[in-house]
Amino acid sequence: MNSYYITGIILSRENIGEKDRLIVFLTREKGKLRAVARSSRRISSKMAGSLEPFNFVRCWIHIGKTFDIIKGVELIRTFPNLIRDINRYLYVSRIVEFVQYIAQENDESPELFRLLLGTMSAMNDYENINSIYIFFWINVLTLAGYKMRLDRCICGKGDIKAFSSSMGGVLCNDCVEKANDVISVSGCALTLLREYAHIKLSEAIKREIPQYLIEEVENIISNFRIHHTNIRLKSEEVNV
Ligand SMILES: [Zn+2]
Repeated sequence: MNSYYITGIILSRENIGEKDRLIVFLTREKGKLRAVARSSRRISSKMAGSLEPFNFVRCWIHIGKTFDIIKGVELIRTFPNLIRDINRYLYVSRIVEFVQYIAQENDESPELFRLLLGTMSAMNDYENINSIYIFFWINVLTLAGYKMRLDRCICGKGDIKAFSSSMGGVLCNDCVEKANDVISVSGCALTLLREYAHIKLSEAIKREIPQYLIEEVENIISNFRIHHTNIRLKSEEVNV
C-alpha cells in the first residue's frame, strides 16, 4: 500500500520551491491532510486548475518521504459563487481558515467534514448567507468542544440578562457581577442563538436574519470563539 485515495475540500495552498505547491485538504477519510502537487505551477499542469482553494475533489496520492504526493485529481464540484461574490468569499474564507486551525491530521472527523461541505454548498447555492454563517459557527464551536450555555444561568435561573464567554454563556442579573467580560444580549439575539443550536442546515437556508441582529449575534459568537480557542483569523481583518 504505497498509495491511497481521498475525498476532500481544499482549504489552502502555498508555493514551495520553484514549481511545486503544498495543498491542505479537509478529507472525509483522514481529517486534515497536506500533500504536494509537483510542478503544479507550470501553465501546462493538468492538475493545477482542479487544485484551487474551496474545490471539492477526489485525489490519488502516493506516500512520500517528507510529504505525500498528489498523482491524480478528479474534480467533484466547484463553488463558483463563493469566489465571485465578495460577501460569500469573506464568509467562507473565515470558515475555511478556522477549520484549518481546528482540524487534526490523521483524525477522521465526519461531522466536521459534513458541516464544512454542507455550509459551503448552502452558501454557494442559496441567498440567506447570514443565516448559514451563524449556523456554521454555532455548530463548529460545539464540534470543537465549546458549546455555549444558552438555556439557563450558571445559578440555574432562567431570566437572562447578559452573556459572558469566560462563564460559558448566558447569565442572570444576579450573576452578572461574577464575570468581567459581560456583554448584553437582547431577547431577539438569545432566541436566535437558542434556535440555531438545534435547527438543521435545511432550516437555516430558509431563514433570514435582519442586519441589526446579525451584528449582535456575530459579536457574541466571535467573542466566545476567541476567548475559548484563542484563534484570531487573518481573514477577519478584511472588511467591506
Ligand atoms: Zn445567575
